[in-house]
Amino acid sequence: MNARYRCVCFALPKKLMQHLADSAEGEHRELLQAQVHHCAKLRGSRHASAQPVARSAVKAKPTAAAKPLQRSVFSAGGQTFLPGKLLRDEDDPPTRDALADQSYDNIGVALQFFKTVFGRDSIDGRGMRVDTSVHYGFRFANAMWTGEQMIIGDGDGQNVRDLAGSLGIIAHEFAHGISQHLVKGGLGVVQVPGAPPTLKGEAGALNESFSDVMASMVKQWHAGQCVHSADWLLGEDILAPHVGKAIRSLKDPGNTKLTWKQDDQIKDYRGFKPTHDAHTASGIANHAFYQAATQLGGHSWETLGAVWYRGFDKLRARATFLDAAHATVGVAASLHGQGSATHKAVKAGWKQVNVLT
Ligand SMILES: [Zn+2]
Repeated sequence: MNARYRCVCFALPKKLMQHLADSAEGEHRELLQAQVHHCAKLRGSRHASAQPVARSAVKAKPTAAAKPLQRSVFSAGGQTFLPGKLLRDEDDPPTRDALADQSYDNIGVALQFFKTVFGRDSIDGRGMRVDTSVHYGFRFANAMWTGEQMIIGDGDGQNVRDLAGSLGIIAHEFAHGISQHLVKGGLGVVQVPGAPPTLKGEAGALNESFSDVMASMVKQWHAGQCVHSADWLLGEDILAPHVGKAIRSLKDPGNTKLTWKQDDQIKDYRGFKPTHDAHTASGIANHAFYQAATQLGGHSWETLGAVWYRGFDKLRARATFLDAAHATVGVAASLHGQGSATHKAVKAGWKQVNVLT
């Protein structure tokens, strides 16, 4: 795997992990603080998934007879060696491991969504098998797409739980795999020799937003929800009540009543600073999508989904919000016509967040 393409995103942003560590006491504080450091180290590690596994040789080999879904779930057994022991392969019956089966099912939904809605065959578009390791680390309170596979922790038992059972979290990480293959070099991925790769600037925020937007559509598609009945939340099902209600809201980014108390997402480009964390500035593009979707009504994935997916497919590694606006507005016009309801809604969405004026 070329290191340039590695993803560097965890489901729970560093700020939230640090907040959990700061709020905890005694041994639990130490556990969470160690996980904050572990996440930072993993971001920079080129060896996280480097353990040789004979099976990986056939990973991305597309065949005419490829199954529509290709999933393998492993157990890291509480350690950090990847992928670990194979628990369930495609078409295997359920295991007695609930987290393995939940991951298997949720990855299946994400695979089906991209196949059915966009005609995309798995993460690389060529039918690659999606590997997932559950029971990653000791009470690890996060999930991640490493650039090659998904890793999912058991949760810390106090603040974060059910990561494997959260369709939104799984779909968000899955979509990081998709954007890694859509945008050569990785959307906003900055690699400085000797330092961990990070998601930077407007492109990094667009990378995060792509995952939130796709995860929202996966959730809504799976539940058969229209834009007005959807909750537009991410991670609404993994936080203990004392931590908060969700990680992010696309409907109202930064509204701590809907999310958690230090949520600092922004939804107006005029407030953007290049130093913003990707999870903070992603609110701008998230909200543009939400605005366009609610203006159009109906099912978000039916019309707007393809506009967003194809628009982001046109972006380069250092894209700006304005590039994303122009790309999606352009796709809306070419698919549905200048002045069509979709064209107008996409424009209005980006105007609402002051990317377009
Ligand atoms: Zn992410």
